Amino acid sequence: MPAYLALSNVEGVGPTYKEFFESSKVRIIVGPLDGAWGQYASGPDSITVNASAINESPQALASVLAHELTHALQNRGNQRDCVSGEVEAFLNQTVVWHKLWGDNPPHATKLELQLSDLLHLYADQGEAGVRARVQNLYQQQCRLG
Ligand SMILES: [Zn+2]
Repeated sequence: MPAYLALSNVEGVGPTYKEFFESSKVRIIVGPLDGAWGQYASGPDSITVNASAINESPQALASVLAHELTHALQNRGNQRDCVSGEVEAFLNQTVVWHKLWGDNPPHATKLELQLSDLLHLYADQGEAGVRARVQNLYQQQCRLG
């Protein structure tokens, strides 16, 4: 899958994802998802990439994979509370997006716009800004509300 190749080749962090993925039994599948670009499920130990995102660039999907592979790693012992887990996943996704594009990432699609928006938020406000965003977006998923 082009997105996986793109992620493997990201300078610095790519090899870590590649090693983890190849030594794990995590499967990556494409399927319907409601309201998410990707989703990791611990039971089947699989990552689903939203079928509606399949025409996104390999770089954008590589960032989605970085996010979901972070959850797969968290499921192997690096367990965190819900918000911290999401913050880590979003930061890792942002690192990949930044390494692929630098400070001026594309924003032509809704996914690219979200990835780039988060990169700008991180550049402006650091991890605290990302955490505030996650707390806002994940109230239901993380049962904060
Ligand atoms: Zn997540």
